[in-house]
Parts: sequence; C-alpha cells; structure tokens
Amino acid sequence: MHEIVQKTYLVTGGDGFIGQHLVAKLVATGHDIIVVDNHITSMPSEDTPGVKVLQANIEQLNLSQLPKIDGIFHLASIAAPRLFREHPMSVIRPNIHGTERMVQLAELNSCRLIYTSSSETYGNAGDSISSKKMAEDHTSAHLLLSDKSPYSSAKVMGEEIIRSAKERGVDSTAIRLFNVYGENMDPTLQGRGRVIPNFLNALQQGLAIPVEGDGSQSRTFTWIGDVIEGLVQLMQHHRELPLVMNMGSEETITILDLAKMMATVIDIDPIIEFADRLSGDPDWRCPDCSLLRQTIGWSPQTSIEEGLRILISENLIRHPLI
Ligand code: UDP
Repeated sequence: MHEIVQKTYLVTGGDGFIGQHLVAKLVATGHDIIVVDNHITSMPSEDTPGVKVLQANIEQLNLSQLPKIDGIFHLASIAAPRLFREHPMSVIRPNIHGTERMVQLAELNSCRLIYTSSSETYGNAGDSISSKKMAEDHTSAHLLLSDKSPYSSAKVMGEEIIRSAKERGVDSTAIRLFNVYGENMDPTLQGRGRVIPNFLNALQQGLAIPVEGDGSQSRTFTWIGDVIEGLVQLMQHHRELPLVMNMGSEETITILDLAKMMATVIDIDPIIEFADRLSGDPDWRCPDCSLLRQTIGWSPQTSIEEGLRILISENLIRHPLI
C-alpha cells in the first residue's frame, strides 16, 4: 500500500475561498496545516484538528515562531474589485511584501513555494477572438491606473519576485489561475464582488442580473475542485517546476451567456440589468494549459454547466428561493 508521508504545509489566505478548499483537502489526506489569514475577506474557520490558524498580515509574520515547513501555498490576496479599488494597499502588500516574506520562509526551510498568480496578469489581451488562447508567453496589455490595475500590477510584481527567487535557486512557481469558482466564494460579498456570486445572489433574491457592458466579454471559469487537485499535485511533483503556468478551463463563455445559463440551471426567466464595465476590464481570456498538462498531466474535468449545477444545487439547499 502507498503510505502518505505526513507533511506540514503553510497556506496563506487559508480561510479564503480557495484556501479553505485546499486546507480541507490537505487535512483529509493526513497533513498538518498552518493557516495565515488576516480575515479581511474571509471568516475564521471552525477549529479543525491538524489546522493551526494565525490571524496576521503575512508580510508581518514572525518567521522564527513557525515550526519546520515542508511547503508553502501563497494564496493570500483580496480579489473583489470594489475592495482593491478602495484599499489598493490591501492587494499590493500581500502580493509584493507578502511574496517576499514567503520567499524568505521557503529559503529558510528549503521547501517549495507555490504562488497563485492570476490571468489578470494578461490584462486586456487584445481583439475579442473567442477561439484564441493565451500561453504563458502571450502579450499582456494593461490600461494603467485603471479600476483593475491594483490587482493586476500586484500579481505581475508577485511573479517578478518569484522569478528572482527562482534565479537564486528557490524551489518556486507562479500559477496563473483563471476565474476559479465554487462553493463558499466571497462569503462577505461586499459590493461589486466576482461575477458568479454576484449573479447567484441576484437570482436568489429575485433581482435583475447585473451584467456589465453588453455582456459580450468572455471568460473561462475553472471549478474549484479541479484547481485544488492541480495545486496539490504541483506541491507533490518530484521534478523542478517551470517558473509560471496557466491553470484554467479552456471552455469560453460570454458573461451574458453565463447569466442565462445560471438562470436556466435555477429554472427562472432571467431579467438582465445592464451596468457600466470597470475600466481595464478584459474583453476575453482563455488559457492554453499545455505546459501544465505536460508537467503534471493536469486538465480541468468539470464543465461550466456541471460546475454551476453543483454550486447552485448546494446553494439552494442553504438558501432556498422564496
Ligand atoms: N461582471 C458582471 N457583473 C458583475 C460582476 C462582474 O457583468 O456583477 C463581469 C465583469 O464586467 C467581467 C466579468 O464579469 O467582464 C468577470 O468579472 P470578475 O470580477 O468575476 O472576474 P475578472 O474580471 O477578474 O475576470
């Protein structure tokens, strides 16, 4: 029988959306976890055996108080546009100073550091051709000092810090995630959050779906379970990892079609309300995940319709339609 070697992993943002799913998976497979989270956009999780939670800003973390760490998942970052427009330092600090700190920790422990970057690093990558995909060396085009730029610039700088660490021999990689969605996303839902929880919230309250622009902009949405599988495999991979890799669904959908699909899954007639788009909002985005596929054999398993069905049926149990 294949025995699991128990490890201690540090997960920054471990009480956030992706973090809590990752921690649950790691604990279920017998590992010990240290969560570092400032709980700006998350709630402290319930006490769980094997999980120690430190409420702190990661850039201020006292590294000498930590036990021996076998691997670091650096996820901490706010992602809701309203918050990073109003408080840009709360996205700049964890991605820049926080990443520097996590590099120091990886060096101290000679362990692997996985930094979750974002498809936002591509900015608005040009013409809206839905069949196009972006590999890691795709051009990036940013509207500077836009509504989106605090987040995208912080992630670009985070990647640069990982690059300089890797050049010094630190075992590290940056993973560009493409619109991850799933259960328990953005529980604080403060103002303009991410599109899927916003639409779900509107549908459940019988309100119009707030589509920004004409809804022709497209994204690919990646199911949380697929992302967690990928992140865990990357940590356990025995060979050196490339500097940066895309991780995302390659199934494109326009935002208007997403609204309609969600309404169909809930089985109500959609009422759409059109609103202004944020400045710097990309017209399209679709990853080429060949590098990740070659490296660990990962590819997404869950279609957007399947994922929405799971998410919506779980949500309706907790918040039935009135
Ligand atoms: N969006 C929308 N209504 C909302 C929230 C977002 O139409 O209530 C649109 C937004 O304009 C963008 C897309 O959905 O084009 C994805 O937005 P999100 O913030 O979820 O992700 P990102 O822009 O980072 O891909």
